[in-house]
Amino acid sequence: MVFPVTALGPGTRLGVWVQGCSIRCHGCLALDTWNPETGLEMTAPQLHDIWRDARAAGAEGLTISGGEPGDQPEALTLLLEGVREISGSAAEDILLYTGYEWEEFRRRMPRVRELADAVITGPFRAELPTTLVWRGSANQILHPLSELGEIRYAPHIDSRPERPPMQRVVTDERVWMIGVPRTGDLPRLDRALRRSDVTVGQTSWRPARGDKDAQAPDRHRSHSVAPFGPADDPTEPE
Ligand code: SF4
Repeated sequence: MVFPVTALGPGTRLGVWVQGCSIRCHGCLALDTWNPETGLEMTAPQLHDIWRDARAAGAEGLTISGGEPGDQPEALTLLLEGVREISGSAAEDILLYTGYEWEEFRRRMPRVRELADAVITGPFRAELPTTLVWRGSANQILHPLSELGEIRYAPHIDSRPERPPMQRVVTDERVWMIGVPRTGDLPRLDRALRRSDVTVGQTSWRPARGDKDAQAPDRHRSHSVAPFGPADDPTEPE
């Protein structure tokens, strides 16, 4: 969880990244989210408390990414039911990311229209680069689902900002890059790191040592979070 998130959806948001993804797109930026056995186990009531805190701190929406939310539909439904109940009539929107196409995601989450305001669907496809806001490849579709979703998301369906919204969060051991970097951004970051005195232990866009499961990405884009060593602005031109 991260609050505030400003790079994945409109306004100031609580970001939740679920753990585990069975889709395994070639070029995924967030290889560290694939394994469902890792991550932090939390109950829906614990997450509801975090949502309450985020609202009290000014959250305008909730973004759920991953990993793959559609791989745990029961837990996701429980989480979203509580979020809806807590928000009541307040204009706080829910945005979901999924690597499944719309029809498959709706089959997994039959109540998605009731529980979310917008969904971004489709796997990451490295061969289809895009400048569309909040999306990693051109096949990914932004679907407004509710009246609030139409107001907040319809204006962004074809929006192509000059630079993608990106955010960095620094903790003791990691730097988290939040947002959807464009083609070439991470190689630029790699070069900036090599020029600097920063030593990087592990990045989420390369398989961890000994992880034969994760494929080596040749391009680095995703809809998720990437931890890396302290670094320059990855979108900074060379
Ligand atoms: S891009 Fe998303 S859907 Fe694709 S493998 Fe990565 S986490 Fe899974």
